[in-house]
Amino acid sequence: MEAVFEKSDAFVMKTYKRFRVAFEYGKGVYLYSLDGKQYLDFLAGIAVNTLGHSHEVVVQALQEQAEKLIHVSNLYYIKEQAELAQLLVENSCCDKVFFSNSGAEANETAIKIVRKWGNPERFKILSFNNSFHGRTIATLALTGQKKYQKGFEPFPDGFEYVNFNDFSDFKSKVDEKTVAVFVEFVQGEGGINVADREFIKSVYDYCKDNGMLFIADEIQTGIGRTGKLFAYEHYSIEPDIITLAKGIASGFPMGATLAKGDVAGALGFGDHGSTFGGNPLACRVAFGVLGYVLKRGLVEHAALLGDYLLKGLGEIAEEKDDIVRVDGLGLMVGVEFSDRKKAEDIVKKAFEHYILLGKAGEKTVRLEPPLIVEKPHIDKVLEFFRQHI
Ligand code: PLP
Repeated sequence: MEAVFEKSDAFVMKTYKRFRVAFEYGKGVYLYSLDGKQYLDFLAGIAVNTLGHSHEVVVQALQEQAEKLIHVSNLYYIKEQAELAQLLVENSCCDKVFFSNSGAEANETAIKIVRKWGNPERFKILSFNNSFHGRTIATLALTGQKKYQKGFEPFPDGFEYVNFNDFSDFKSKVDEKTVAVFVEFVQGEGGINVADREFIKSVYDYCKDNGMLFIADEIQTGIGRTGKLFAYEHYSIEPDIITLAKGIASGFPMGATLAKGDVAGALGFGDHGSTFGGNPLACRVAFGVLGYVLKRGLVEHAALLGDYLLKGLGEIAEEKDDIVRVDGLGLMVGVEFSDRKKAEDIVKKAFEHYILLGKAGEKTVRLEPPLIVEKPHIDKVLEFFRQHI
């Protein structure tokens, strides 16, 4: 593996702080390193590998579609794209879909829809402190965290941040220029913070009463992760726009922006585009993944197993002073520690014990296993927490 580390350090830009491991292959919830060690994957490519590693549905879709057709331009109709769009529409509150290749692009698309739907005087978009919406310049402007923005100023105008779960702060930030709000129902990169039901309902009702758009960034929470197909279903609301990426094709790159009613018609011919967006290969894989998630009850499975994980961690937290808070929804769970170093030490120690965990925000350890995880895998991770905190 040393040779891989050396080559990577020599030739790849150093934008990622990496664990010293490289994987050769994966199967189910396990990854296997080049030096033959088995790792239990409780991060899933950061909420990407919905069906775990090398799932037959993904492999088969890739192989079959690659032999038929990988890419054609959006100058032509694409059967696989139309079929995936129909499946997404029929299983959500939205009416139409635009396909891209990543979460940031899905959110860029949403920002462009909002700008086109609004007017030159009404362009301001609200988002939340500790949110995360991507790394492009516009999605960084939308991200309410200074640490990601530092050094990349100036940003485009018209973005302002609100305290999460604070309706009076939200109201105070709305003015005659405000046209939309972007919400993560569970903040993923700013710690695992679940939005209060009452807060979301208040924000949503306010948007409806004041002609503002409610946009759900479900890039991390979508496709069953929180125990509903989309996290908005926990809140009895219907967003105007939903953005998806990460788990949509279980590891194959794809972004999608779904929109409802007249919002879905805001972008017209020539207003937006993507060379690779909605290519037959990505769409066929996502179609297979979504079909499998729906048919095999993986959404309900994520809800049940998520409760099991949350309950287990909650019990451990009662006995351990270092744990400040356990929070989450479905299989998107965070354990907040009393300080940053303790959170970092646990992630490091888990790695030494061949368990992959991640950090979210400053002091939170994040657990987001594939949706195919089973109780014995969770028991193993709970035992690790019991022994090592
Ligand atoms: N939005 C949310 C909520 C995310 O969690 C992420 C990635 O972590 C993004 C947007 C950006 O997605 P991508 O890295 O695919 O551009």
